[in-house]
Amino acid sequence: MTTLVFGHKSPDTDSTGSPIVWAWYLSEILGTPAKPALLGESNTEALFMLDHWKLDKPEIISGIEAGQDVVIVDTNNPAELPANINEANITAIIDHHALIGGLQTKAPIQIRIEPVACTATIMWKMIGKDMAQMPSEIKGAMLTCILSDTLEFRSPTTTQEDKAIAWSLAESLGVDISDYAAQMFAAKSDVSAFSEAELLRMDSKEYEVGGKQFRVSVLETTSPSAILERKDALMAAMPDVAREDGADQVLLFVVDILNEEATMLVPNELTKSVAEKSFDAKVTGDTVVLPGIMSRKKQIIPFLKV
Ligand code: MN
Ligand code: MN
Repeated sequence: MTTLVFGHKSPDTDSTGSPIVWAWYLSEILGTPAKPALLGESNTEALFMLDHWKLDKPEIISGIEAGQDVVIVDTNNPAELPANINEANITAIIDHHALIGGLQTKAPIQIRIEPVACTATIMWKMIGKDMAQMPSEIKGAMLTCILSDTLEFRSPTTTQEDKAIAWSLAESLGVDISDYAAQMFAAKSDVSAFSEAELLRMDSKEYEVGGKQFRVSVLETTSPSAILERKDALMAAMPDVAREDGADQVLLFVVDILNEEATMLVPNELTKSVAEKSFDAKVTGDTVVLPGIMSRKKQIIPFLKV
């Protein structure tokens, strides 16, 4: 049976690139037939990566068969995976997120979760000496994943390992990191084709805080004005998105990658209270700027209060 390797729904660059990396390693080095898959359409930065490195786009799958061999990467959260994920034969999990619980396996499996910024960083360490056999386009995917998840080393999730591995990949590929990251972020920032509801779901994770269910959405961009000029329409779309997704409220943070700050939208009293209690901010209008905030994982989720 061919093992399917996939990341989370609403695939970002890491959930698009890391499955390609690991499927290559399983197939070409370990001799286990594997192919990458996507649980939905990739974001515009991930599509840029595929195009730039001339990688085949993984097949988008809508579900999995019971008993299917799968490797899960870049998440361990059942809510971000197919509904019947526990009917699959999960053979490994490689991730860099908090352990959520809920995944079940029929036998002991390989699990590797490390507090680094990116799944590809962990894979580089696991592949070890076999990196010497990795083709350039797969190395390119790895480098793109690390630059994406670290926001070119600006995110506080960045570790020395992420940096050292990215520099090593860039050197072997002859890539100028700042020039290449600028191209990536320009691709990620081009969201003009998406509806407000699509933007609110593009990079979004659900969390419960104080009995309230929040959809915490982040848009990383080098041109925040292009998103913030749509703020009225974005706020108007929030109630429907929340209701359809079983949440009480959408929280949207527009992360300005270059100026290293986030702008949170504040459509109502609940979000105003969350902004003031969580981030020690004084809210006067329908947005609030949060200096230095770039990481949902490290700077937003752990501090959320209602
Ligand atoms: Mn991800
Ligand atoms: Mn990741």
